[in-house]
Amino acid sequence: MSIHDHTFRLGQVLVVCAPSGTGKSTLIEMLRREFPNFAFSVSFTTRAPRGEEKDGREYNFVSRDKFVAMRSRGDFCEWAEVHGNFYGTATKPVERMLDAGKDVLFDIDVQGARQLKKTFYKGTFVFVLPPSREELVRRLRGRGMDSNESILCRLGNALGEMEQATNFDYWIINDDLEMAYQELRAVYLAGRCKPSLRSGILDNIMGTWEDNGTTGCST
Ligand code: ADP
Ligand code: 5GP
Repeated sequence: MSIHDHTFRLGQVLVVCAPSGTGKSTLIEMLRREFPNFAFSVSFTTRAPRGEEKDGREYNFVSRDKFVAMRSRGDFCEWAEVHGNFYGTATKPVERMLDAGKDVLFDIDVQGARQLKKTFYKGTFVFVLPPSREELVRRLRGRGMDSNESILCRLGNALGEMEQATNFDYWIINDDLEMAYQELRAVYLAGRCKPSLRSGILDNIMGTWEDNGTTGCST
């Protein structure tokens, strides 16, 4: 048995939130590339697929009726309406992945993070901040995916989202990308060392003393 055996290791919930355009997807992509064993919580959404998105990979794309039925059944551990569409996380698959010792990454909005904290209160909650409004505008324009109207809407929402930043365990300012990534990976790795995720390991290591005497020495 090794300490990496999942019998002794529960998965970590890692939640990353940021105002749109901050660089959250870029940072998450870097983390998933370095740690390919990360499980990603595939959300349910009522929005239509964009570009190359595939059902079951980026999202589970469902109708509004199906989403509402799932919500009424209590399938979601969190859900929210974001930019006019519903998004939600189904509880069961997440629990299965955590029990199997997999770390699970969540890319959700601040409303969802607040709800998730009630269920997965031992999780690690990270808020990524843009260095300034000016830089956020530059990134949103530079990405070239949003209309002027949509950029103004996202900038307005950013302020409300940042007001929620005090509910998070860590703040990462995404100014220099490499520096921000180093901070994110440090937070993730530190989160893996939480005693609550390593249940059984202490007893197991201490158990290796049993046959060899338990008397200490006095100095
Ligand atoms: P989000 O997922 O938060 O909406 P993205 O990851 O799509 O944001 O990033 C928005 C834009 O900003 C992208 O064009 C990305 O390449 C760029 N970007 C991300 N981080 C930085 C950074 N530290 N410095 C400059 N540009 C960045
Ligand atoms: P997009 O439609 O651009 O992929 O995502 C829009 C926003 O919805 C992003 O802030 C993203 O983090 C958030 N989001 C994605 N999935 C979920 C989810 O399951 N729950 C919640 N609350 N937000 C989500």
